[in-house]
Amino acid sequence: MRLRNIPGARDMIAASPWVVQKPEDHCGQWKSFFGNDHPLHLEIGTGKGRFIMQLAQEHPEINYIGIEKYSSVLLRCLEKQEELQLTNLIFIRGDAELINTYFSDGEIDKIYLNFSDPWPKERHARRRLPSSEYLRRYDRILVQGGIIEFKTDNRGLFDFAVEEVEQSAFEIAQITYDLHSDPVMNVGNIMTEYEEKFSKKGNKICKYILRRRA
Ligand code: SAM
Repeated sequence: MRLRNIPGARDMIAASPWVVQKPEDHCGQWKSFFGNDHPLHLEIGTGKGRFIMQLAQEHPEINYIGIEKYSSVLLRCLEKQEELQLTNLIFIRGDAELINTYFSDGEIDKIYLNFSDPWPKERHARRRLPSSEYLRRYDRILVQGGIIEFKTDNRGLFDFAVEEVEQSAFEIAQITYDLHSDPVMNVGNIMTEYEEKFSKKGNKICKYILRRRA
């Protein structure tokens, strides 16, 4: 999702109290940043933020961080957060590639990847957020019982993601190729902006939940 460039977006983000300006400075210190020892859940590639905002409203006992690469997209999250003022939710304008500089080993309890960019060209495969290279980065920052949840309507990306799990420290705990018709996995599902858009077109939504190998 790349919205048109919004003039001044970077300045607005730099001035926002809901954006952590230097996440590296809090690496290993996120519990003191939030002032409690609640679990910490990340959404990588937050987009306009509907998913993580609804989660944060429903779960005040969990701290949430949304990571989004583009200022113009993150601005949409901030507009809503200005209204809601959720104290268990903050944002990082940053690149998932740097995730191991933002978080230290075992600091995160759960990672959500929603409708990650597919990067269809083979030479860009390493940029796909559910690639084995990214799974290695997530492995470091997740606690022992850490969980990864990924959903997408892009079957090619999903098949790739499932194959990548084999070379990782994780295993598939649950999987569906039609989330909205799945009586178990769809319980409590929160639709993202992309999910709503593509399921309205008739696309089926795939989802897996990963846990560490036993
Ligand atoms: N998760 C939202 C949804 O489901 O509606 C947005 C999906 S959109 C296809 C993917 C989002 O991930 C975009 O907003 C994009 O800017 C962001 N993104 C892509 N690569 C990223 C990266 N390396 N680090 C952080 N965000 C990234």
